[in-house]
Amino acid sequence: MSDRDSGALRRRSLFGLTAGAAAALAAGTAPAAAATAPPAPPPTPDGGGQSTPITADQAWRILSEGNARFVAGRQKHPHESLKWRESLVKGQHPFAVILGCADSRVPPELVFDEGLGDMFVIRSAGEVLDTSVVGSIEYAVEHLGVPLIVVLGHASCGAVSAAVDLVRGTAHLSGDISTLVRAVEPAVRATPPNPDPAAFLAACVAEQARRTAVLLKERSDIVTKAIAERGVKIVSATYELTTGAVTRV
Ligand SMILES: [Zn+2]
Repeated sequence: MSDRDSGALRRRSLFGLTAGAAAALAAGTAPAAAATAPPAPPPTPDGGGQSTPITADQAWRILSEGNARFVAGRQKHPHESLKWRESLVKGQHPFAVILGCADSRVPPELVFDEGLGDMFVIRSAGEVLDTSVVGSIEYAVEHLGVPLIVVLGHASCGAVSAAVDLVRGTAHLSGDISTLVRAVEPAVRATPPNPDPAAFLAACVAEQARRTAVLLKERSDIVTKAIAERGVKIVSATYELTTGAVTRV
């Protein structure tokens, strides 16, 4: 952490956000229209552009629009240019925290079609919380002024599947994998039984995302305070491998 980062407490402006998303927000247009909007200019040195602060709801809408592009195969791959990269040297102004699984099939920047500096991403198998994960989220919320936290589970999650096996007594876990899977176990035990294994696993995945969001609020005074005083929101969601779609759960 640095003083430079602390200076990033200013909220990111809509104008400095994703290209078409900001235009779509301003115009109230659909994602398809946003996809044709001109690219946004890089942020000014102070994180700049206009001073309108972005809200949690606006941040979620930008992510939803990006995911819609990903689902449709119409990605814009924003904020990957040399000019944009250089504009970020003086500081970062991400508009969302993504706590996602480490699974190689669910990289948040691709799933939400965002680029450098857009999202503060933390990944652990099964979105399991530990002190490092919570501390990283707290840093993004408190020092970077991020308005939205997304807990992103996904279909066919190996960590959740292993926790299902653990509950059934068929798991063979070694090393710290055991600690990880046992952290997911309560979500499996809280999920109503279902004779369909695939449906049960999907329900467990959703429960783990929801439960992690609740646990985060319980564990972090910084996050709780940010929710109460600054309108920060936590969204739990899951990613479907087959369609690429992210759905709130
Ligand atoms: Zn996973």
